[in-house]
Amino acid sequence: MYEVVISGAGPVGLFLACELGSYGIRTLVVERRETIDPTLKAGAVSGRGADILTRRDVVSLLGDLPSIADLMGGRKPGGSSLQAAAGGRPTGHFAGLWVLRGGSAPASLVMAPQQRIEEALEKRALSLGVAIRRGHSFTGLDRDDAGVTVSLSGPDGPYEVRTGWVIGCDGGRSPVRKAAGFAFPGLDGVTTGHQALADFDDPDFFPMGWHRVPHGLMVRGPHPQRVLTLEFDGPPASRAVSQAELQESVRRVSGTSVTITAVHSVTRFTDNTRQAPSYRAGRVLLAGDAAHVHPPLGGQGLHLGLGDAVNLGWKLAATVRGWAPAGLLDTYSSERHPVAERVLHNTRAQVALMRPGPGVDALRDIFTMLAETPEANRLLTDLMGELDIRYGASGDHPLAGLYCPDLELKTASGPTRVADLSLAGRPLLLDLADRAEVRDAVRPWAERVDMVTGATEETDTLLLRPDGHVAWAGEDVGELRNALRGWFGEPSSSDGLGE
Ligand SMILES: Cc1cc2nc3c(=O)[nH]c(=O)nc-3n(C[C@H](O)[C@H](O)[C@H](O)COP(=O)(O)OP(=O)(O)OC[C@H]3O[C@@H](n4cnc5c(N)ncnc54)[C@H](O)[C@@H]3O)c2cc1C
Repeated sequence: MYEVVISGAGPVGLFLACELGSYGIRTLVVERRETIDPTLKAGAVSGRGADILTRRDVVSLLGDLPSIADLMGGRKPGGSSLQAAAGGRPTGHFAGLWVLRGGSAPASLVMAPQQRIEEALEKRALSLGVAIRRGHSFTGLDRDDAGVTVSLSGPDGPYEVRTGWVIGCDGGRSPVRKAAGFAFPGLDGVTTGHQALADFDDPDFFPMGWHRVPHGLMVRGPHPQRVLTLEFDGPPASRAVSQAELQESVRRVSGTSVTITAVHSVTRFTDNTRQAPSYRAGRVLLAGDAAHVHPPLGGQGLHLGLGDAVNLGWKLAATVRGWAPAGLLDTYSSERHPVAERVLHNTRAQVALMRPGPGVDALRDIFTMLAETPEANRLLTDLMGELDIRYGASGDHPLAGLYCPDLELKTASGPTRVADLSLAGRPLLLDLADRAEVRDAVRPWAERVDMVTGATEETDTLLLRPDGHVAWAGEDVGELRNALRGWFGEPSSSDGLGE
């Protein structure tokens, strides 16, 4: 029997499977596709998503990646454009305004196509003992008090699997969400976007970069074949996209008569924003696009979904293994729902700021002026990268609840970093003041919590959750014990409890 069944082997389902696999949870991932979807989607992961991939060392599995300069092949960006990508100062954009410069943490970027990330995650999941069945679709579920019976359909026909938990990581149209009866309220889309890799009869028909034009938005690059159009005269009529439709859109938006000679990948999107009110219904949970959908503006979908998965993984593992304190699993939804709500909100603002017309021109000028001020720039950069998320934490230390910076520690066995200590994805106690009473306090939790003594600029003791957020920080050992109980359950041994 599998302890957890995940529907969907997209980046979120695979990352979650890795987290569960690292805890030894017997996990089955079912994916309706035989192979990874080759459609061009994310070209990079930014902000906290890049940190999450780095701290689990998924980055080293990505292999050699082309630089932006390689991709652009010497072409120069134009319009309001790709300065960030081309080596200029901004690190990201808001509504196509390349203004993001400095957040409250250093900018992180993993410049890899989504498919490469999925390949790396699949490799890692398999190495951690996760079972992945491609060509097998989730078709339904039946819940009772003891578990869930999942209906699947594979090459040999329909069959059932019994499990304790089902996680829907099966994208914006999530069959798990529908089968489990989650509501999905929100706003319908009013725009039609196309993203494609294509060949053109005139490769220089339009300059590289981001351009707001009278009929919408035109983006070219960083790959010379990549084109993205956004038009504001209604949502798409149907789901299939033909070469002729793509060409019409490119011609309308670019104002040229360019001809598309071949299409290597094309997808269509709109700006609908929807979100499940809660991500848990008993033994069924949602993560990634299954829990929230929004337009792909500012590249937020992947880091949002990876943030869900890294938040959920250890809490579900603790629940399955029986050491989760009461209510821990419900903090997944209460912590992650507001984060996605903010993303939905900012994508609505970006769509509004991208509309054509002189009124929006003026609004963009004023917005840019305000965004150039340091405080506004920090708020906006943090917003787009999820850099300022503070989860409920024990205590009122300035770091409590925040993502722990990648501190460098001097330890008896040499220098190390928080990122290196996070590879296993376990709770971590950083004994930064070298105190025997701290080490005694944590000993009863030794099976669950790793401990490292080291010196860095921070001298308070830090207790980190597996998702990198600071569960507690301070000096008081009694408070530390309460935080250990509150986040990681009753200790497995009474040795060192000191009570
Ligand atoms: C045009 C475009 C550009 C984008 N650009 C960016 C970007 O630059 N940066 C960024 O961060 N994000 C970007 N995104 C968003 C990003 O691609 C998504 O947020 C991301 O794919 C979500 O991952 P997921 O695992 O939640 O869902 P998905 O990637 O949708 O994966 C869901 C998986 O579930 C499978 N599935 C569905 N039904 C079933 C079933 N019944 N049984 C089994 N399996 C099933 C699907 O086949 C799929 O493999 C972009 C999206 C689009 C459309």
